[in-house]
Amino acid sequence: MAAAAVVAALLAGCAGGSDGSAAGAPASTAAELPAPAQRSPAAAPAKEGTPAAAAPSKPGSGNADSDKAKSDKAKSDKAKSDKAKSDKAKSDKAKSDKAKSDKAKSDKAKSDKAKSDKAHSDPASPGVVVNKRRPLSPRDFVPSKLVVPRVERTVAAERVRLRPDAAAAVEKMFAAAAAKGVGLTLVSGYRSFEEQAATYNHWVGQYGDKAQADEVSARAGHSEHQTGLAFDIGQADGTCTLVLCFRDTEAARWTAEHAARYGFILRYPQGHHEVTGFSAESWHFRYVGPKIAAAMKAAGTATLEEHFGLPPAPGY
Ligand SMILES: [Zn+2]
Repeated sequence: MAAAAVVAALLAGCAGGSDGSAAGAPASTAAELPAPAQRSPAAAPAKEGTPAAAAPSKPGSGNADSDKAKSDKAKSDKAKSDKAKSDKAKSDKAKSDKAKSDKAKSDKAKSDKAKSDKAHSDPASPGVVVNKRRPLSPRDFVPSKLVVPRVERTVAAERVRLRPDAAAAVEKMFAAAAAKGVGLTLVSGYRSFEEQAATYNHWVGQYGDKAQADEVSARAGHSEHQTGLAFDIGQADGTCTLVLCFRDTEAARWTAEHAARYGFILRYPQGHHEVTGFSAESWHFRYVGPKIAAAMKAAGTATLEEHFGLPPAPGY
């Protein structure tokens, strides 16, 4: 490709990402503050459970009624005391059960979060999230299997490779596009750590500084091309390859609309630079599997970071 033209077009396309923040939230006023709690007078502590010392019955008093009354009272006091103990035990048990249940819930939430973090950190998972704050682990990760998808490729890309699941989905999507008269080509796919280092250095050389290169190219160990799940497309006639005008082509429009059906998302959409860290790339797609892609499309969620509740990654 003509590097100068690409650079010029990319420079022209770096204006994306102005999200127009809204004005700050209004400061809270005194009227919104809760009224001080009413202090209720302290209730006199109830004297419960202090058994009255039974007066010793006088021997030979012969007051049977009085003895019976005392005995009844004692029974009644005992019943009350037993009930209080039983109520307390029930209440303690309920508290203990609640604490156990809360702990179990909290443990489950922690475990779910750990599992979800693992899924987004494992470079072999279609749910992996790689960005400027989330390098691949290990940084020199290589997918266990890579295949060459049987689709049209650009002349420069003689052997574009992808993971088998992503490659199969690319073949299906390109066939569906062709059936609608939309010609797609595969421009690039898997890049090794070393290839990404060379790509990034190329852009640093072109721009003369890292800040501008960081807008369009990932540093080695931070590119999702290294997962074998990401690829760039072009249109059949080869024009607008990897440059801003691609977004106005039928190839870009058709793919943006139908990619989710095949398990792909547009990874760097227009206007989300502050989350993804990259200028919009209407040609860069990422395999996440049909389930995640469909859920994002249904919810209208633009980025993987937002879909998984991960922090934005505007910079390294
Ligand atoms: Zn790409």
